Amino acid sequence: MAVSFAIPAYFTAIFILSRLMSIIGISKPWSHISPKLLTLDIAGKLSVDPSAIEQASQDFGHIVKTIPEAVLYPSSPEDIATLIKFSYTNSVPFSIAAKGHGHSVRGQAMVNNGVVVDMTSMKKHRNGTGIQISTDGFYADVGGEQLWIDVLNATLERGLAPVSWTDYLYLTVGGTLSNAGISGQTFRYGPQISNVYEMDVITGKADFLTCSPKKNSELFYAVLGGLGQFGIITRARIPLEPAPKRVKWVRMLYNDFSVFTGDQELLISKNGRNDKKALDFLEGSLLMDQGSPDNWRSSFFPTADHPKIISLITKHRVIYCLEVVKHYDDQTKDTMDKELQQLLKGLSYMPGFMFQKDVQYVEFLNRVRSGELKLKSQGLWNVPHPWLNLFIPKSQIADFNDGVFKGIVLERNITTGPVLVYPINRKK
Ligand SMILES: Cc1cc2nc3c(=O)[nH]c(=O)nc-3n(C[C@H](O)[C@H](O)[C@H](O)COP(=O)(O)OP(=O)(O)OC[C@H]3O[C@@H](n4cnc5c(N)ncnc54)[C@H](O)[C@@H]3O)c2cc1C
Repeated sequence: MAVSFAIPAYFTAIFILSRLMSIIGISKPWSHISPKLLTLDIAGKLSVDPSAIEQASQDFGHIVKTIPEAVLYPSSPEDIATLIKFSYTNSVPFSIAAKGHGHSVRGQAMVNNGVVVDMTSMKKHRNGTGIQISTDGFYADVGGEQLWIDVLNATLERGLAPVSWTDYLYLTVGGTLSNAGISGQTFRYGPQISNVYEMDVITGKADFLTCSPKKNSELFYAVLGGLGQFGIITRARIPLEPAPKRVKWVRMLYNDFSVFTGDQELLISKNGRNDKKALDFLEGSLLMDQGSPDNWRSSFFPTADHPKIISLITKHRVIYCLEVVKHYDDQTKDTMDKELQQLLKGLSYMPGFMFQKDVQYVEFLNRVRSGELKLKSQGLWNVPHPWLNLFIPKSQIADFNDGVFKGIVLERNITTGPVLVYPINRKK
């Protein structure tokens, strides 16, 4: 029986940019896996090249290093099944890990002395079939190796889009569906794992199974959020809806945490999935002394307002930023401002500290990209990323602000990375 909770829980992401040492190990090729693997027809797609091993033994976190014995560059799901079958039927099975875009932070897509399957190599062999939109436009069949940015671009060509996203889109479908896929749409639509109709999965016994809430449902629910431990996703069927053209994007500042969370909770309590007038996105973040009120996630505040925001931060040391978005298109552009005003009426942000932007839908969804490119150009992208994601019950979120945001993050001056905090309806 499904249980639904009326009380929201808070999602917080604390992302600290710092320089830690990596732990390094070395392994010899084929010291753990039977060299018989090289007699299979996938032999030519296996690599023990030092650069392939190096690539597969690190991730975006740059904190752990785990050395595989080989990397498989599959050109089809059958290649993956051949590898899994060889391990499963071997007297000494070895570990296998699917690697999407490698944006995990603690080695989740790595494997010690086993084989890493580089899912992205399938992309070039799909011959344009990696993202297929149904004729009625209700869903897209998407390869597990596809990046969400490519899913967005392909579906937008038909005026459609999925409804639930992550903040950053250069992640694979298989990678985020193995976690959760959480962002500012989650309060309304649920995480990405709640927005999947069915999947094709290769199991640990190398069986090809299609699963959904009605068919092989145990596998379906195990794989979604299963960290790649229950099978390899080769296709996911993602629901689509008509895509908006543009969005109104609003940020409001608070110096009082309970007022900030009170407004967040009020907003998510009012905005149901089928309510056409509802907000489409809600998040929140901390502004601390980082030099500029715009952090790497996106530049937002007008330059002329930077001095007044900076002096606010200097005075209070931490400011809370409530961020919301409302979609619109040609049919709704005239009523849009009024609807937004209505939605934000009665909120208690600091007078004079509401900022708005009007941008294309794709620019909003892909907002982290410009920050990524900036950090890359400064050599600050491929650095260690200690990163903590937590769900915190509503009853504890004020204590978390006092103990962690103020007591640790602020006291220890850990102000270099973004800290996000936003509520999610548990029933989603
Ligand atoms: C800058 C940045 C921003 C982010 N923002 C968000 C956010 O807003 N919301 C959010 O929810 N997450 C966010 N993440 C986290 C991200 O969703 C996860 O790290 C995700 O796993 C990354 O996808 P990937 O393709 O890089 O997966 P990988 O790191 O390659 O793999 C992740 C896990 O999935 C498994 N896996 C990969 N492909 C498959 C497959 N086809 N079948 C089965 N298992 C598979 C791997 O074995 C591993 O366990 C962010 C990450 C970064 C770096």
